[in-house]
Amino acid sequence: MAAQTGPNFDTSILFDAIIIGAGPAGLSAALALCRMKRPAVVFSDGEFRNAKAHLAHTILSRDDQPASEIRKIGREQIERYGTTRFVERRVCKARKDGNDFEVEDDQGEKWRAKKIVLAMGVRDAFPDLEGYADCWGQSIYQCLFCDGLERADRPAAMLGFDSPMSLHFIGIMSHIGCPIVTILSNGPLKPLDEATAEALKVAEASGAKVDERRIRKLVHHEDEQGIDVVFEDGDSFRIGFLQHTPPTHVVAPNLAEDLGVEKLPDGRGGTLLKTSQPFGETNLEGVFVTGDAGVVMKHFANAMALGVAAGAGVSFQLGKEEERELAKNLVETNIRLAYGQTNQCDVTSLFQPVRGFSVSLREAL
Ligand SMILES: Cc1cc2nc3c(=O)[nH]c(=O)nc-3n(C[C@H](O)[C@H](O)[C@H](O)COP(=O)(O)OP(=O)(O)OC[C@H]3O[C@@H](n4cnc5c(N)ncnc54)[C@H](O)[C@@H]3O)c2cc1C
Repeated sequence: MAAQTGPNFDTSILFDAIIIGAGPAGLSAALALCRMKRPAVVFSDGEFRNAKAHLAHTILSRDDQPASEIRKIGREQIERYGTTRFVERRVCKARKDGNDFEVEDDQGEKWRAKKIVLAMGVRDAFPDLEGYADCWGQSIYQCLFCDGLERADRPAAMLGFDSPMSLHFIGIMSHIGCPIVTILSNGPLKPLDEATAEALKVAEASGAKVDERRIRKLVHHEDEQGIDVVFEDGDSFRIGFLQHTPPTHVVAPNLAEDLGVEKLPDGRGGTLLKTSQPFGETNLEGVFVTGDAGVVMKHFANAMALGVAAGAGVSFQLGKEEERELAKNLVETNIRLAYGQTNQCDVTSLFQPVRGFSVSLREAL
């Protein structure tokens, strides 16, 4: 197990937030909370969605950098504040505990906090195709904003043609310069609906070729930066990259289920956790979802922005609760004072707005 860093909090402490995930979403939520002096504990089991990619793109000021490096810098900056503890362990269970939350890690230790942020990301569900996993992130690209441009001088292909969106990807591949674009259907290509059939016609008219041969395997070539598509008939051809966006599913769905967070289909054969904007709040007070797990547009920079929003949501909810508590204490003090002096209390005065607090006394009581 990797060393744990950060202030040496004991596990009995009630943190302001438990953050499950130390990708761009979880780290950004943690950073926002550092700036609010809100103690947080961040869990990571070290498995990141983009682990197989060499370099990350379309991240302002960090374009063409390894994602691991960006996370490392982020974590160092968070640690400087001294209010966040990082724990390199998998969270196995999560539950509501009165007004608070409790999680249990894979060492059996329990951690408590007032709020919980689910930033576990998603996993891509690979098709059953030999060599696919080896090529993933290296020469199979799920997002053309992330990868593709560097190999746009070579022929490229797309696996399947699932929806009208596929036409959009074909258009991008041609637009960035791929000289030949092939649709590999791995068997007879049968569009799922009329809109997809129309889109396929447009793709072919724009010059995309359809190859319906069954694929035996995919072979990644690190040195030549490409991928061989080997067909069952023994023939093969080399391309610079294969575009394919498989469905994605939320990581550790049991945690969301334990807590009772609603899921929903993402419209692409995968799942998402249901959130509301701007903070990533869920159907349960105090539970936030951020990053890939709660959004269709899955990008590093988007995960960072959503992470900050979740951190702000945690801070906002905690602030409201603390104001309410203060207002309540003020009422109680006023009652004691009023009653002590007159032996009677004018209850109506207690429902006047309290200066300096954004909650009314009626709300506080
Ligand atoms: C191959 C590939 C290349 C990509 N390239 C780019 C790119 O170039 N540019 C770009 O903008 N986007 C890119 N993306 C998308 C980008 O990686 C994601 O959008 C981003 O990583 C999402 O961040 P996240 O914090 O939501 O999840 P992740 O980065 O996946 O982090 C998830 C975190 O949750 C933790 N976790 C999960 N379950 C548990 C548990 N039970 N207990 C403890 N910890 C847990 C993990 O350990 C990890 O710390 C790429 C994606 C892929 C697949």
